Amino acid sequence: MATLSMSMSIHEEPMDFSNHKLIRIHPRSTEHVKQLNRLEKEFQMDYWRPALNDLRPVLTIVDPYKEQYFLRALNNSKIFHEIVSNNFQRIVDKERAEMEMASRQLNAKGENYDYENSYHNYEEILDQMKYLANNHPEKAKYQPVGKTYEGREIPALVIGSGEKVIILENGIHSREWITIAFGQWVANKLITDVSLEPLLENYRFIVVPVLNVDGFIYTHTTNRLWRKTRSPSPGTNCFGADPNRNWDSHFCEQGASNNPCSETYCGSSAFSEIESKNMANLINQYKGSIAAYFAVHSYSQLWMYPFGYSYSLPPNAQQLKTLSQAAVSAIKKSHGLSFTEGSIANTIYLASGSSIDWAYDSADVKVAFAVELRDKGLYGFQLPANQIKPAVEETWAGVKAVIDQLS
Ligand SMILES: [Zn+2]
Repeated sequence: MATLSMSMSIHEEPMDFSNHKLIRIHPRSTEHVKQLNRLEKEFQMDYWRPALNDLRPVLTIVDPYKEQYFLRALNNSKIFHEIVSNNFQRIVDKERAEMEMASRQLNAKGENYDYENSYHNYEEILDQMKYLANNHPEKAKYQPVGKTYEGREIPALVIGSGEKVIILENGIHSREWITIAFGQWVANKLITDVSLEPLLENYRFIVVPVLNVDGFIYTHTTNRLWRKTRSPSPGTNCFGADPNRNWDSHFCEQGASNNPCSETYCGSSAFSEIESKNMANLINQYKGSIAAYFAVHSYSQLWMYPFGYSYSLPPNAQQLKTLSQAAVSAIKKSHGLSFTEGSIANTIYLASGSSIDWAYDSADVKVAFAVELRDKGLYGFQLPANQIKPAVEETWAGVKAVIDQLS
């Protein structure tokens, strides 16, 4: 019965979510959390965020084949849930229509590019990043990270001339669109905000707006909820590995799966995914000068530091905590939202093979964060475009607070 529909994609037809419900589950006790984790396995669900003891809501799509059984199981366990939408396709269509309308508007490129009210597709992002570099050669250089599995360019901008390097990694998980909006916005902000010019004399920012380009394209063409890369796994019908479980740091230990059909599949070997490998090469290129690394994800409103592979804390945990607290308080001041800080394993879950753990242990990046942007589970990955502006502003406030403390 249950298939791993989210991970499978033998057909390249767009996923039709018309009869799929989007539901929001509200665990009220640790017993509910336990039940939900059991049901996730039993029904092979893709929870957008795992059920955790913080008792935050869990969003998930329920396909028509599982619906009756899964909802009955929730009811039997007395776990409250609400139907957000009876037709998830309608939400996807609405998001796309808004995006297309925005990009059709006259002169929506260059100077008139809309960073704050609209999501963009890969071609628009690529053109815009090149435009920024071409129009501000004194501040920025277009320097791609390398190619993806399907041969596309991974865009990046190097902004500023300082000795110390700050890396902003966005969109390693392709469905986390708000992070990709942040990447574009922050590149533009750094280049065009004259008040930041002194910062660019001290630092060199490397902004990667979308690392998992193939997956991102797939979220536009085929499945809005695609998270992984798009490399095939021989012997299976499943595609992609989780590029944030694929780094050579405690590879495929706890919090990663060796099942190619899992959303957290670690890949056939460490750095089997060229996207992770190319990003690691970029980090190595600046090894010794990296002042801070930010891996930007969504969603959950968390500001986290190493480690993901262990509950133990890194030697400079106190420093990382202080910096995280500064970030969280700046975010609160920005638009009033509360973020939680702590180490990855202690704040959400064990996750081995992640970029910041590798940067910390292997590339000597002692100030590294994994940030989960808004929200806490109301819209999840489908954060409405009218929240892009506050989301990117508060994220920048957090990043800036860290940098101010470093200087
Ligand atoms: Zn993510």
